[in-house]
Amino acid sequence: MYPRLVVDLEKISRNVRKLREILKERNIEFVGVTKLFMGDPKIAGIFRENGVEVLADSRIENFRKMMEGGFSKPFMMIRIPQISRLKEVVELTDHILVSEPEIVKMIDEIASGVVKIYYMVDVGDLREGVMYDKAADEIKPLLNFKKAKIVGVATNVGCFGGVLPSEENLKWIVDVAKELDLDEISVGGTVYLLALEGGFMPYEITQMRIGEAALLGTDATGDRDIPYLEQETVVLEAEVIEIKEKPSVPIGKKGKDSMGRVPKFEDKGIRKRAILAIGVQDVDPKGLKPLDEGVEVVHASSDHLIVDVTDVERKIKLGDVMRFRTNYSATLRAITSPFVDKVFLG
Ligand SMILES: *Cc1c(COP(=O)(O)O)cnc(C)c1O
Repeated sequence: MYPRLVVDLEKISRNVRKLREILKERNIEFVGVTKLFMGDPKIAGIFRENGVEVLADSRIENFRKMMEGGFSKPFMMIRIPQISRLKEVVELTDHILVSEPEIVKMIDEIASGVVKIYYMVDVGDLREGVMYDKAADEIKPLLNFKKAKIVGVATNVGCFGGVLPSEENLKWIVDVAKELDLDEISVGGTVYLLALEGGFMPYEITQMRIGEAALLGTDATGDRDIPYLEQETVVLEAEVIEIKEKPSVPIGKKGKDSMGRVPKFEDKGIRKRAILAIGVQDVDPKGLKPLDEGVEVVHASSDHLIVDVTDVERKIKLGDVMRFRTNYSATLRAITSPFVDKVFLG
């Protein structure tokens, strides 16, 4: 059935092993982030088989899925919890990223045993966490809970503001940990590999939370293929449902398209275009990289993806399947879409 996402578990396995080796050399714990695959037990299995113990995810449902697949704690909840579902988080996971004092107190009341809390510190990316210069004051009064045990601080960059790790923003988190006398410092995600490669990862960092690098071999924030990892771990396949020659610019007065966008078209004369049976509901078209030479992704509506195949050497026919590499956002949407079949190799 098409469209489908073909996932190469062997490649992902090799990526996990390579990353583990690199992190082990520096004595940094590797936390495996499964959220891109919605907590698929096969991905959990790849991490665990290759020595990654703590599995991290952002969704309660994904932890349930991993448990049904036979996996159990250690689990780390990496999205700061919502009060309305805090009981579930405390029940299902034993490592929690937190950014509100109230939540720490509530966890201490709810929990039956010790829960490891990492307090989130914002070093400039401006997603979650207490700002680094206010962090020590906010965290200090919370250090004595028996069950909600703050074991360390955590931070992430590259998620909202697109901030890169730097010597300066790493020093900020290290300073907070030192001031509070906390041993553990957790950083994520993938973009922090730049700090290791650049030789500016402080020795105080004890843990890295990594998903994308292992699962796709890429670093979206650093905008690169990671040279020592494998890409094309995931390939999207979609079927041609129309093939016709048409002008490259729409005819008539234009409003917005079905997604409220104002698309721009370059006049290249008459082009041969294929329509594929996949759309914005299933994939982020901007994140598709055709594996056929000469193919250009033109545009997409909810259910139709238009590609220009004029310059493709092989003759594209109705019913043919075209293949694409997918970036993080395209993969995320394809995995989430119930209309995209998932096939695992290896
Ligand atoms: C998603 C996420 C990660 C993992 O990021 P990748 O870029 O996929 O490696 C780590 N920490 C937090 C808090 C996250 O939300």
